[in-house]
Amino acid sequence: MFREILDLLFPPQCAACRRIGSGLCGECVPIRSSAVTRTLDTLDVYSLGEYYGAFRAAILAIKDGRRDVAEALGDRLASIVKKGTVLVPVPTLRSRVWTRGVDAVELLARRAARASNAEVQTALMCRSGIGQRGKTRASRLESRGRFSCDQSMVRDRHITLVDDVCTTGATLEDCAGVIREAGGVVTGALTIAVVLDKRDLARPALSRSRH
Ligand SMILES: [Zn+2]
Repeated sequence: MFREILDLLFPPQCAACRRIGSGLCGECVPIRSSAVTRTLDTLDVYSLGEYYGAFRAAILAIKDGRRDVAEALGDRLASIVKKGTVLVPVPTLRSRVWTRGVDAVELLARRAARASNAEVQTALMCRSGIGQRGKTRASRLESRGRFSCDQSMVRDRHITLVDDVCTTGATLEDCAGVIREAGGVVTGALTIAVVLDKRDLARPALSRSRH
């Protein structure tokens, strides 16, 4: 109810073209599309699109706290979820978690899972955050590099990582490594956007003019 009133007062606008109606319109990012694939050293990354134009604008909007944009992208991600895998969100550094404790990447994973009947396990943690979760929990964790993994959530299961964007691929490889050490089978990763060409990082966020 509160949300409906807010929508009336401040109607949602597309993060990329500013069209009124939703957080992300179907023209900027189609509701269904085939995945863009990038092969890293040990896993394949499937993405909705390349990291420029509308996709870059949408990801920047998510980092700014636009929950409606994260929900719209999570729903679109569902179309490329592989059946029978467990979705594991890449953890966000505590300093980057949205206000009120909402983590954008976890929200993406939960929306994608809801629309595709997949399961989500928040098995990964940033090592700097482990102390806050208690030492008994930490004792069941496999650690490597920046991340730790709860073995009980991934052992002998088929895991798909979820992140917002894949740039160098190093974060996804680190996460895949710690999950494998904890006994999980990493089948791939899903991201909203992927960098296929490093020159994209220098391109502006918006490719379209206002409608
Ligand atoms: Zn748009």
